Amino acid sequence: MANEANNFQELISHCKEYGYIFQSSEIYDGLAAVYDYGQNGAQLKKNIRDYWWKSMTQLHDNIVGIDAAIFMHPTTWKASGHVDNFSDPMIDNKDSNKRYRVDHLIEGFADEQRTTGNDKLADEVLASMDALLAKDDYAGLKKLIEDNNIKCAVSKTANWTDVRQFNLMFKTEFGAVAADNPDDNIVYLRPETAQGIFVNFLNVQKTGRMKIPFGIAQTGKAFRNEIVARQFIFRMREFEQMEMQFFVRPGTQMEWYNFWSAERKKWHESLGIPAGKLRFHDHVKLAHYADAALDIEFEFPFGWKELEGIHSRTDFDLKQHQEFSKKKIQYFDNDLKEDGKPYGNYIPYVVETSVGLDRLFLTIISLAYAEEKWTKEDGTEDSRVVLKIPAKIAPTKLAILPLLKKDGLPEIARELMNDCKNSFMCFYEEKDAIGKRYRRMDAIGTPFCVTIDHQTKEDNTVTIRYRDTMTQERIAISEVKNLVLEKIS
Ligand code: ATP
Repeated sequence: MANEANNFQELISHCKEYGYIFQSSEIYDGLAAVYDYGQNGAQLKKNIRDYWWKSMTQLHDNIVGIDAAIFMHPTTWKASGHVDNFSDPMIDNKDSNKRYRVDHLIEGFADEQRTTGNDKLADEVLASMDALLAKDDYAGLKKLIEDNNIKCAVSKTANWTDVRQFNLMFKTEFGAVAADNPDDNIVYLRPETAQGIFVNFLNVQKTGRMKIPFGIAQTGKAFRNEIVARQFIFRMREFEQMEMQFFVRPGTQMEWYNFWSAERKKWHESLGIPAGKLRFHDHVKLAHYADAALDIEFEFPFGWKELEGIHSRTDFDLKQHQEFSKKKIQYFDNDLKEDGKPYGNYIPYVVETSVGLDRLFLTIISLAYAEEKWTKEDGTEDSRVVLKIPAKIAPTKLAILPLLKKDGLPEIARELMNDCKNSFMCFYEEKDAIGKRYRRMDAIGTPFCVTIDHQTKEDNTVTIRYRDTMTQERIAISEVKNLVLEKIS
């Protein structure tokens, strides 16, 4: 991997310099853990989202997609358990007033131990942490921090408060009319997209005449007031999720959980992520709604971290919504027969696949980023920074570059552009030396460049240059569109 931890900062700068990611409201010094996607970033993000959407909905005839609102009735979050349970244990350092998520603080300590070869202590501390988190033993967690003399990175002291819970949901007020009780106006920015699917279960099942097993997919923004938001777009306060809830017969959930775990890992590999950079991590502490859960982890430049969650959510969510809404949320299973007669009104079980679009973006871009150096035939050194984004999701597929701004070359280039732009994203440029233009396209991650020169006028051929190998060949101008289409399909 060309992207080790030490050039993570370079990757971040590169994302800014080439229109991928900007800090939000940068002119006002930014807003912590909120980012904007620029012209290339927005297109790459859309391409990843579309690839997910297509593979979920178009390629599975039993999965449909919806787009639920961000605002939901506040009772949704009471029913789902988020009002009471969506919190992380945190601890404050009394000298620096810096707040930490307890698991991050301890994981950071374990990482430090590994850098000095103390893997045994790192493993022990993490095992103790998992056991204490599983029991919600906050006093035990504080003791673990103190016993290991874990210090705050800012104050360098171990002067800690007690461990407390911190709810991660953002609250806001709804409507212009003040209510007698201010709590009546409170709505939350959704912390996950999943609940928009659960509350629409019956709407979709009935109108789509869906038969179990079936899935509902959705992409959209989610918001979490993360205590410590760090590592660029890995942990944001506003981010996007791509979730699919798969509704199954009770008792079959483990079969589907195993199916979707394997399926989702394969899907990531289909995006060019090497199998060796992905692994499963089973949850020790299960969320209140789950009977099994794992993370698909990716080896980010800063270590192995969660990319996607696969959760067997039981019938928890639908059951809760049934109880809180007092509306029957059940499925009549015609295919379930006893003594030859149909039976079975039940609340379906759910297997969820939930991947962060921004985290997947970071995965793709950190794998793609490479700083390359080589010696040319004449003995001089050359170098480039290239984004080797898989062609099928690259923001721009083809750059069309007339060698000169005259002699009819721009006209031919424009004609090619007009022929191709309806089929895929093209970029036209006639300024600067051709070598410089190639480098810029490498840095943006454009997989194919076509140069129109004087020979084009004679024999209708162009030079096509391939980003990853930098090799060039001459092909007929009439073949360009099909060649690109074939490579990106
Ligand atoms: P973490 O343990 O990293 O906080 P989580 O287990 O809370 O994540 P889930 O609730 O399972 O995450 O959410 C599903 C997916 O949404 C995650 O796998 C991740 O890709 C993405 N995600 C969650 N929180 C964030 C965030 N703050 N910023 C960006 N992506 C996120």
